[in-house]
Amino acid sequence: MVMKIKRFLNCSIPRGIVYHKISSDIIALFMSFFSRLDDRKTIKQFENKFAEHIGRKYAIAFPFARVAIYYALKIKNLPAGSEIIMPPITIKAILDVVIDLGLHPVFVDIDLDTLSFDAQKLDQAIGENTKAILITYLFGIVPDIENMLSLCKKHNLFVIEDFSQCLNGKYKNKKMGCFGDIGVYSASSIKTLDTYGGGLLVCDDDGMHQKLRYLQSTLEQPSRMYLIHKILTDLIRNIATSRIVFHFMVFPLIKIMSALKPGGAIKHTGGRGQKMIKTLPQAWFKQYTSYQAKLGLKLLDSVEESDRARINNVIYLKANISSLPFPRGKSAANNVYWQFVALFENPIKAQEVMRKMGVDTSTTSLEMISSLSDYSCQGDTPNANYLYNNGLFIPSFPGLSMNDLKHISNVVNAVLDK
Ligand SMILES: *Cc1c(COP(=O)(O)O)cnc(C)c1O
Repeated sequence: MVMKIKRFLNCSIPRGIVYHKISSDIIALFMSFFSRLDDRKTIKQFENKFAEHIGRKYAIAFPFARVAIYYALKIKNLPAGSEIIMPPITIKAILDVVIDLGLHPVFVDIDLDTLSFDAQKLDQAIGENTKAILITYLFGIVPDIENMLSLCKKHNLFVIEDFSQCLNGKYKNKKMGCFGDIGVYSASSIKTLDTYGGGLLVCDDDGMHQKLRYLQSTLEQPSRMYLIHKILTDLIRNIATSRIVFHFMVFPLIKIMSALKPGGAIKHTGGRGQKMIKTLPQAWFKQYTSYQAKLGLKLLDSVEESDRARINNVIYLKANISSLPFPRGKSAANNVYWQFVALFENPIKAQEVMRKMGVDTSTTSLEMISSLSDYSCQGDTPNANYLYNNGLFIPSFPGLSMNDLKHISNVVNAVLDK
């Protein structure tokens, strides 16, 4: 019945979704007022299940991916001014923790086919003072990680993988997060495993695990309101991107906004602060709650199912859109396409045409951290710049019907014909 109504209305298609049922968010919101937050056993259970799922010995739950990265670098005790190779595009908070530790970020440009470091430019960027590298798998595309790793090994770099956008992605049948010294996953809003925030660090090393375990225990309990706020944010996003609400309320608003300010509504979830922060906020350093862990235990079982649905959608779209420069990844790789991004010559025009035909799209809401004017470190990263400005998300999330997919391919083909 619901399906019939949707088809009848021919609802417009949002740029992305929250990976929860709205009913689950409502129940979680209600339960978060009463549930226990500090049950160590449940947190441990979730950590073990996550580690096993990825194929690592240990997982340690932190409140944010940025905090996991902060502690991973902290225990390495790198001398001040040591260089760390960074992706030009990621969340700004990661740049903030790196700078807080006294490290010097070096930005290496990406390869537009893998959205990860260009191997040649990476080789050129590694110097005597380079001690660490943060490899990020943007939008669920898997690069030639073996090649990259051998380069890192040669120079004895501490390797951190940020697989927040590539959970369950694989290279030669090994999951991302298993290649570096540590892997970090952010279980934040709109990710495929979303526990209303959280940063899961995975590793195999006993000594490192012990130190990180201790640091985890030094974190303060968060207030209940903090968790409630996070759940509420997800719920609102979830309702806003549900088809009927999106069609009748959100999309019309987006249309009005973009008419008032052409090109203004192009970012995924709105601009974020670009100012440099002086000290890391205390609010980042709270414990991951056992209520989140309890949800994670349940949600982890269904991630691969929703991955399959999304990947199949992407396969359909790739086959039915005439000619678009998509990032392809590598042949030995299993991409998960967290967001299916395509590069358009004129993204503002493309967005406008797609919007008129009922398909919402946007560029990434991540920050171009290699060119923030408030920071002293900058990098010349033209490919990343192109992806940042010209890469539009083509809706491909689970739950799209065959009619939706046909419509999306027609719309993108119409853009390309213009
Ligand atoms: C979402 C995301 C994060 C989020 O990190 P938090 O500190 O948990 O907010 C980090 N890295 C990437 C690549 C992401 O996409």
